[in-house]
Amino acid sequence: MNDINNILAQSEFSREDIVRLLSLEGEEKALLFRRAAEVKAENTGSEVYFRGLVEFSNVCGKNCYYCGIRKDNDEVKRYNLSDEEILAAARFAWENQYGSLVLQSGELASPAFADRVENLLREIKKLSNGELGITISLGEQSPEVYRRWFEAGAHRYLLRIESSTPELYRKIHPNDELHDFDTRIACLRSLQEAGYQTGTGVMIGLPFQTLENLADDLLFFKNFDIDMVGMGPYLEHAETPLYSYRETLMPLQQRFNLSLKMIAVLRLLMPDINIAAATALQAIDPLGREKAVKVGANVIMPNITPGLYRNDYALYQNKPCVDEEPEQCKGCLDARIALAEGEIGYGKWGDSKHFHKRV
Ligand code: SAM
Ligand code: SF4
Repeated sequence: MNDINNILAQSEFSREDIVRLLSLEGEEKALLFRRAAEVKAENTGSEVYFRGLVEFSNVCGKNCYYCGIRKDNDEVKRYNLSDEEILAAARFAWENQYGSLVLQSGELASPAFADRVENLLREIKKLSNGELGITISLGEQSPEVYRRWFEAGAHRYLLRIESSTPELYRKIHPNDELHDFDTRIACLRSLQEAGYQTGTGVMIGLPFQTLENLADDLLFFKNFDIDMVGMGPYLEHAETPLYSYRETLMPLQQRFNLSLKMIAVLRLLMPDINIAAATALQAIDPLGREKAVKVGANVIMPNITPGLYRNDYALYQNKPCVDEEPEQCKGCLDARIALAEGEIGYGKWGDSKHFHKRV
């Protein structure tokens, strides 16, 4: 217990320290969670920020081995919301004081897609009198497209590195130029250069992944000077290549626990960044996101995609809340955050404090 208290009192953490913290169970794990909650309270306070998530299309040009909506999955019913539907969801977020919106979709690299998104960003800014903050998560694009979207009004971008270990990255993606580790890193750099609050993240509990890989992921976020992180458990999907490794995975509850420990350790490493409580946590434990808020997360992304389409954005199986309409999700979240002893920062952008210190 003493050596854990000593590690927790540090402000810098070695790879070994991190692996040790990620292995904690029982009373020692409770110490880690308590320390992370203190660091969060001192640095980001008790406010939890909402980002209304609009998954506007499941059409994707890529073939990531873990993802249910990968291009080669012929079982997926593809959809693409109309501009009107996307703008209606944005209006819902603005009128309900969500503060920010996240636009996410499969990855397309065509000029028509870039133009459409640019136009949508300008329309969303217009309808909310510039008040709605906009995060986008639209995969790998050219530096020029990133710049155009930034100028059109997006100010945060989420691009998960998925794994910062190149060998593991290669095992979970096809080995071709569309799925190249160095390109992903270069994209993260261009996002920072374009002026975005830059977010990344990883999946936790992937086949072949070790605690050392996860410790390296946390150190990667720190060394890259990332502003926001969204990370959660990997959840298998039967219509994907990685499904054949399902018997090698750790049990779901263990993956969930490890995800909470990753969030808590990240809060110690990077006290002033934004950390999102991933929806995948809720797929394992109905109170998963609230538990994440208790141990260090300060952002939640309620799904405001019209209910009709949500079933078809199935990255993994048993995705939560797929039958609800946005209004139902909201009522349910208000109560849940109060349970996690947080307060919702209604109407606020809830920017990453780290970003404002960095630039
Ligand atoms: N297409 C964009 C991209 O890949 O960056 C954005 C959308 S993609 C669906 C968003 C994230 O979903 C990915 O970064 C990945 O980490 C996560 N994801 C995909 N399949 C998953 C799975 N089976 N379990 C958990 N997360 C998954
Ligand atoms: Fe497409 Fe993103 Fe899924 Fe990869 S993770 S297949 S890029 S939607």
